[in-house]
Amino acid sequence: MRALVFKTTFDIASSSLLSNVLQGGRVLILNRSYLPIHIATVKRAVSLLCLDIAIGVDRDYQTYTWSRLLTEGPSPEKDEDFHYLHTVNKLVPVPKVLLLQDFDKRPPQHIRFSRGQVFMRDQHTCQYCAKTLPKQKLNIDHVVPRTQGGKTTWENVVASCHYCNRKKGGRTPGQAGMKLLTIPHRPSVSPLLTTLKDLNPVWNNFILSPA
Ligand SMILES: [Zn+2]
Repeated sequence: MRALVFKTTFDIASSSLLSNVLQGGRVLILNRSYLPIHIATVKRAVSLLCLDIAIGVDRDYQTYTWSRLLTEGPSPEKDEDFHYLHTVNKLVPVPKVLLLQDFDKRPPQHIRFSRGQVFMRDQHTCQYCAKTLPKQKLNIDHVVPRTQGGKTTWENVVASCHYCNRKKGGRTPGQAGMKLLTIPHRPSVSPLLTTLKDLNPVWNNFILSPA
């Protein structure tokens, strides 16, 4: 089996294909079973396509090899499923979803716990007063405070604004007479994936929402 190397010596950045989309766009990578495993830049996606490590897929599960993309391209009504690279004399469509050809990697089962991931899971919204705030104005709140034995786990922390965090103090929501908007849970899909998919509607076809 061909080894999958996400780093490749093919360096499209040095070619005339370079355009803004290389910097900004994101591509969802699926394994052969159509399970999302990775988010890549457009630059990396082009490398995977060129090397026949991956093919593109659109919302109707139509697939596109690199040579098909260069010759036929997608039909105009599927424009939204593609990024477009501006070359000297044409537009090259790069699918927003790629399917790896011989790589059976499973999706990550374990979502890394971090402050940033908790904020993303909670959509940067204080779980007590429902205010949406930038991360600088949010705290990690332990639902059961550490002083009462609460652990730092997905199930015991939420995003909260500074005001609610102070108001709650070293108490549980019940003791403080405050109510949580949601029950904190371990996400089954990376919060980043969930956030980015809103920007790429075609990804919705391939990402299952957390139960
Ligand atoms: Zn609040």
